[in-house]
Amino acid sequence: MTKTESSNKSWKSIDAIANAVRSCANCGLHSTRTNGVPGNGSSKSEILILGEGPGFNEDQQGLPFVGRSGKLLDELLAAISLTREDVFITNVVKCRPPNNRDPLPDEVDACRPYLERQIELIDPKVVVTLGRVSMLRFNPKGKISEDHGKILDLEDRILFPLYHPAAGLRNPAIKRELQKDILKLPALLQRCNLISSDVISGEI
Ligand code: URA
Ligand code: SF4
Repeated sequence: MTKTESSNKSWKSIDAIANAVRSCANCGLHSTRTNGVPGNGSSKSEILILGEGPGFNEDQQGLPFVGRSGKLLDELLAAISLTREDVFITNVVKCRPPNNRDPLPDEVDACRPYLERQIELIDPKVVVTLGRVSMLRFNPKGKISEDHGKILDLEDRILFPLYHPAAGLRNPAIKRELQKDILKLPALLQRCNLISSDVISGEI
């Protein structure tokens, strides 16, 4: 067993991961952060929403998506009658990259065990990625302009890539795509639940 795997399993809860993130110094981003941003929401949700990395406001408050992008995310969730309490929201890297630059590959790698264990413990049916960086984390050859709103396979889960809300704030056409794509999520979840109950009852 590698060191990563053993530390990975040693976090027994979402709170234990959050505590580890807040004191983590495993990559250079720790030296410029104000607060680590482990993620929040329901640890029993069927939906995990994954952003790229904390921005200014998130770094200040230690919470994900609390700035303008977060407000748009709230609106998108409200359109399908969901609130933040119904989902779990986190990021590929848990500490803010300086000047909101893209996280570097070694930073994504260093932060990987936290996200892996969050996915393992929450066990969501659908992973909704926001933007290019978080989609590439699971679909390295993907192209966000082609793959947004598509239903992709993620081992025993579904990957549902969306544009990043920040892109939607900059570009009204992208905002409309986000508003259109999010409406597919309820039916997608319904389908997941139907499939798993059929498997349990032996009908598939
Ligand atoms: N953008 C992100 O990708 N994540 C956040 O938490 C906030 C803005
Ligand atoms: Fe640790 Fe991740 Fe923060 Fe880097 S970004 S210091 S790996 S929590």
